[in-house]
Parts: sequence; C-alpha cells; structure tokens
Amino acid sequence: MTKPVVAIVGRPNVGKSTIFNRIVGERISIVEDVPGVTRDRIYSSAEWLTHDFNIIDTGGIEIGDEPFLEQIRQQAEIAIDEADVIIFLTNGREGVTTADEIVAKILYRSKKPVVLAVNKIDNPEMREQVYEFYSLGFGDPYPISGSHGLGLGDMLDAVAKSFKKETEEQYAEDVIKFSLIGRPNVGKSSLVNALLGEDRVIVSDVAGTTRDAIDSSYTYQDQEYVIIDTAGMRKKGKVYETTEKYSVLRALRAIERSDVVLVVLNAEEGIREQDKKIAGYAHEAGRAVVIVINKWDAVEKDEKTMKNFEEKVRDHFQFLDYAPIVFLSAKTKKRVHTLIPVINTASENHALRVQSSILNEVIMDAVAMNPTPTDNGKRLRIYYATQVAVKPPTFVVFVNEPELMHFSYERFLENRIREAFGFVGTPIRILARARK
Ligand code: GDP
Ligand code: GDP
Repeated sequence: MTKPVVAIVGRPNVGKSTIFNRIVGERISIVEDVPGVTRDRIYSSAEWLTHDFNIIDTGGIEIGDEPFLEQIRQQAEIAIDEADVIIFLTNGREGVTTADEIVAKILYRSKKPVVLAVNKIDNPEMREQVYEFYSLGFGDPYPISGSHGLGLGDMLDAVAKSFKKETEEQYAEDVIKFSLIGRPNVGKSSLVNALLGEDRVIVSDVAGTTRDAIDSSYTYQDQEYVIIDTAGMRKKGKVYETTEKYSVLRALRAIERSDVVLVVLNAEEGIREQDKKIAGYAHEAGRAVVIVINKWDAVEKDEKTMKNFEEKVRDHFQFLDYAPIVFLSAKTKKRVHTLIPVINTASENHALRVQSSILNEVIMDAVAMNPTPTDNGKRLRIYYATQVAVKPPTFVVFVNEPELMHFSYERFLENRIREAFGFVGTPIRILARARK
C-alpha cells in the first residue's frame, strides 16, 4: 500500500502551518537526537481514524525570489503534482481575496479532489462568515479553527472520503524497489545510468498511475527492480524543482515508496551535514539502507584510503551502523556491479522473518549474559519475544514494566539479535510491551 498524500495550499498567514502541526501532532523523532539533524516540518506522516496518510505544507516551500502571487501559484502547482487530495485553506476573518481566487483557478484545472476549509472561525458566532466562500466553487466550505482545534474532524472526514482505493502499490511483492538519495551532483543520475546500462538489462519507463513520477523498471539476473524517481534525476524544468525544500520533499516521497535506499555520497567532497540529514530520513522511515561512496575514481588512493574513509563514514553515520558501504565510480563503472548483490541482501534482510523459538533462545541467552536493568530496586523481567512485522523487522518483547527497558539495554538486545540473525542493511525495531 502506498499512503495517500494530502497537501495544504493557500496564501500566506491563513494558518497552513498551524493546521499542519495540528494534524501531525507531536511526533518524536529518533533522528532528531542526532546532532546536526534537524527536521523539515513540511512533510510528515499522519493519521485520522483508520487512515494513514502523508501531509505536505506547501507554504513551507519558498520559491526563490519570485513575487508573492507567483509563489502561491507554484505552491498550488506542487500540490497538484504531489497530492491525492488538496486542502484549500482560506481565512474567514478576511473573506475571499484575489489571491484566493487565483489559487482556486489553478485548482479547477486539476482533477484532484479539493476540500475547502475556512480557518480562524474561532467561535460559533463567526460561522456565517463562511458563506461567501461558496463563491470559490468547491462546494461546502468547512469552518475550522487551527488555534482552537475546532472543526478539524469534519474536514478530515471529507479529506478521507476522497482517498481512493487506487493508491494500492502497483508492483508485485517480490520486486525490489529502491531509490537514490543525496545532495545535488553526488552522481545519482550517473549511477542510475550506469546501473541501467549494464548488459542484459531491460528498461521500461512506468508512468505512475496517480502522480507524475516516472519509475524505471528493469530485470537483472532474473530479479525485477524498480528505481523510484527522485528530484534531480529527471529535470522537468519547472521553476520550483530547483528549490531545496522541494527536492527534500521528493526525496522523502521516494524513500517512502522504496524497500532499499541508496545514500549516495561524493568521495571527492567528503561528508556534509546535509548528507546526514538526508540519511536520517531513510533510517527514520525504517527502510533498508546502503551507503554508496561514488566518484572513487577521483580520489588519490593508497592502501589505507578506503579504510580511513570507511571509518569517517561510520563516525558520521552512527545511526546507520547496519548499512553496508560500497565504493564505486558511476563514471568509469568500476565496482558498479558490486552494488546489486548488496542491494539484494539488504532487501532480503528487510523482509526477513525469524523463528520465534530461536528468537527466544537468543533473548534468554542475552539475559543470562547481561542481567536486565533495575530501577529503584525493581528489575526488568523479560517473558517472551516475537517478531510482529517485516520491512523493517519489528520485535515485541513482553516485559513486566516497559519503562524499565532502558535504551542501552534495548541496544544490547538489538546487537545480540543482529549477531544471531545478521540483518545487514536493515534497521530493526524493538518494542517493549507490558504482558497482559
Ligand atoms: P501560514 O502562513 O498559512 O502557514 O499561517 P500560520 O499557520 O503561520 O498562521 C498565521 C497566523 O494566524 C499565526 O499568527 C497564527 O497563530 C494565526 N492563526 C492560525 N490559525 C488560527 C485560528 O484558527 N484562529 C486565529 N484567530 N488565528 C489563527
Ligand atoms: P546528481 O545531481 O546527483 O544526479 O549527479 P550527476 O549524476 O548529474 O553527476 C554530477 C557530476 O558528477 C557530473 O558532472 C558527472 O559527470 C560527475 N560524476 C558522476 N559520477 C562520477 C564518478 O563516479 N566519478 C567522477 N569523477 N565524476 C562523476
């Protein structure tokens, strides 16, 4: 299943980011604890009742020095390109403005469902101010108040009604979907070309059914792969495609749809903060990760260079300690062939299920070796462990009191599980639950 995408559009100050934050709620991010990794709050997963979806605040995507109306116009285009459902946000205190009418005109041209919301209706007496918004031509306007959290349920019901069944994944379960992420110019497109240029590769462009994304599907040694498109790989020439937030957004979308994410670094330039941030998203999304060091041809080497570079990568990407590192050159194609087996392994491990009996032996041996932590004289007791999910492999450990499971002990258990089962290339998750 691919989650539907909802975008919020509207002119500045109508309350887009307020509504975005309300819908997203407070989410704790694992990667936010990693120094240097900050979160771009323009894209997030969210839930409403039984629906999981992703949401974009297009207002957060600033389009260079473009004039005000042009910015709004392009944000609306982004919403049309990227979203399955659009929330068109307006301000009930100011009424319908020219800018609202311009947004409306752009949205008419798309076939995407639009839910019109009138914000800043902070009390019931203000409700009659929504009537003039019928003139925008999107049916019933939903009165809401972002700051008071009013009316959001009805609005989200309308949004959820527009989710289609067609967001089901279009590829078979055994197809390996991967994407390449990294800063501009690290060599992502060159690497795609190098991969697709390999002998015996059959390429076909599959136009995305719901969006404009173009995936490349190919078969290599009887395995089918799909390369998920990211910004920068195909330049469509729209102005906003060069803005950084937009390319981050595209990368996040690609990560979301991938099994394996290749984090591409430029050996010539070394590691930058931006690399860490991008890699953090892949980790957080629970995707398998392979670190690719490209442009290895351009580096002057002796017998220690690779080892030193590897140590530097390990030091910067401690949260990706499970990710294999592949050195290659997309330009000369040297070692490009070594990448595919690594992708295959990461993908297999990402979907690996282990036997409960063996898992429990591993856990009990671990506990015997390193006693569980105590707090105020109370000791953590582990009763039973079971794997509840794949992609990524997720384990539930039933305990007496989940609060007693410290991060360091969880980490210890993770290491024991990795030693026993491998899981190279994939994050794993451990959840402590109270035994009922
Ligand atoms: P954006 O530019 O569209 O993202 O708008 P913001 O979310 O930054 O909000 C703009 C201003 O409107 C801020 O000062 C908010 O506190 C305020 N605001 C947002 N929602 C409401 C609301 O429901 N009622 C009132 N009275 N003010 C709101
Ligand atoms: P993208 O923006 O990440 O897609 O990067 P491109 O694939 O467009 O590559 C950016 C530049 O780096 C181009 O000039 C490429 O020719 C060059 N480049 C890509 N891969 C390699 C490589 O392995 N070695 C060297 N020396 N240059 C490369």
